[in-house]
Amino acid sequence: MSYQEFRELYVICDECHTSLLVCDATDEDADNEAADHGWQCDELQGRHYCPLHWHVECHDCEAADSGAPDELEAAGWHIDRDYPDDSLCPNHHHLSCRECRKWDVGPLHRLEYEGWQLNSTDPNDSLCPECVKAKEETK
Ligand SMILES: [Zn+2]
Ligand SMILES: [Zn+2]
Ligand SMILES: [Zn+2]
Repeated sequence: MSYQEFRELYVICDECHTSLLVCDATDEDADNEAADHGWQCDELQGRHYCPLHWHVECHDCEAADSGAPDELEAAGWHIDRDYPDDSLCPNHHHLSCRECRKWDVGPLHRLEYEGWQLNSTDPNDSLCPECVKAKEETK
């Protein structure tokens, strides 16, 4: 008679207690598997959130929110899906200059006040104040 041990492991959402079955996996594999299913795994705090209950925190202020990542993005969040704690709330934008690769982060009104020229479709294709100035001078 042979035995086979089959380890069943569940990843549980800390918000709604939905569970995801991952078979025969180490804890680390379980996290990876859960992530493949759209779960958020917070290794530091050992928390897990199902695809409907991601927890995001703004990298630049105290703002935090939870919900489905798509919904949060629709609400204006800029989510870093690998590091949700590095997300940006609707009030904070990360702009990069397409000319010199300089970047800045902050409320849009401040960045615009400082002279950033925002490309709203691709914030990484914006122009920093210096490059805006340089462009104006060469005109
Ligand atoms: Zn949940
Ligand atoms: Zn913020
Ligand atoms: Zn620039």
